[in-house]
Amino acid sequence: MILLDGKNIASQIKIEIADRVLEIDRSGGKMPHLAAVIVGNDGASETYVAHKVRACKEVGFKSTLVRLDEQVAEEILLEKIDEINNNPDIDGMIVQLPLPPHISEGKVIERIKVEKDVDGFHPVNVGRMFIGQPAYISATPYGIIQLIERYNIETSGKHCVIIGRSNIVGKPMAALMSRKGYPGDCTVTICHSRTRNLDDICRRADILVAALGSAGFVNAEMVKEGAVVIDVGITRTRSAETRSGWKLLGDVKFDEVAPKCSYITPVPGGVGPMTIVSLLANTLKASAREVYG
Ligand code: NAD
Repeated sequence: MILLDGKNIASQIKIEIADRVLEIDRSGGKMPHLAAVIVGNDGASETYVAHKVRACKEVGFKSTLVRLDEQVAEEILLEKIDEINNNPDIDGMIVQLPLPPHISEGKVIERIKVEKDVDGFHPVNVGRMFIGQPAYISATPYGIIQLIERYNIETSGKHCVIIGRSNIVGKPMAALMSRKGYPGDCTVTICHSRTRNLDDICRRADILVAALGSAGFVNAEMVKEGAVVIDVGITRTRSAETRSGWKLLGDVKFDEVAPKCSYITPVPGGVGPMTIVSLLANTLKASAREVYG
């Protein structure tokens, strides 16, 4: 069994990005610049945004954090997005989700300029990714793809089973794994909460992606000998064993599943670190005008 060490690969990619930033600096170019918008004071969102801003600093990107009050009117948020859209120094923008219920996430996402949508949530980026045109791929699927690529995992002709059909993980993963080329060329099955015979389907997977958000859902009985298992799930639970009093659990029962796998991601340290680094990679692409010219 080989551990898919997302933490290590993410550090390598960060070094590669930081090297590119140094080159840009030496040649007198403009530093990549990411703007992050956060509405309200949700604890988890604060943590995610703080990590993103810190990651920007680590690789030498410029970052701007825009904080808006929980009660902010939708129109004010949209105006802020327009302002960032029109700021030539800012290459990429993210609006941290979820947003308060009085604000339409769809409207907000569609207001972001496609060229600056480094989260890859805008329907144009999603659509372009689906039909194989250059696009920003959202950070979690992009991170998983990069992990598969860095470990040279064979994907052609394999049966990839994905548990979960969310717009940010399950569906884009299905599109990417079934596309022509590497990583891809898989036969893909998407499973969800209404799927029948889920255990049987999972047992037929050469590559199993668990993205349902249910701690320890996938057990050894559901996994074929030699399968590749990618655990996207993150569930925070109370723990007396850690200093913080919390621990993160994946969707896979790691201890019993790992011995059957050819490759498996740990939680934490697997998909999670790859997600942030993919946002950096997208921001670098935005600053180099690699996707939209
Ligand atoms: P979501 O809640 O939007 O979607 C969950 C999906 O799982 C749904 O499509 C649902 O149909 C399916 N599902 C739920 N219960 C099921 C069951 N019993 N059997 C089969 N399918 C079932 O979640 P999401 O946003 O896609 O996130 C999924 C998990 O991944 C969460 O734990 C989340 O925290 C984690 N996540 C991690 C990262 C990361 O960087 N590692 C990024 C995004 C999400």
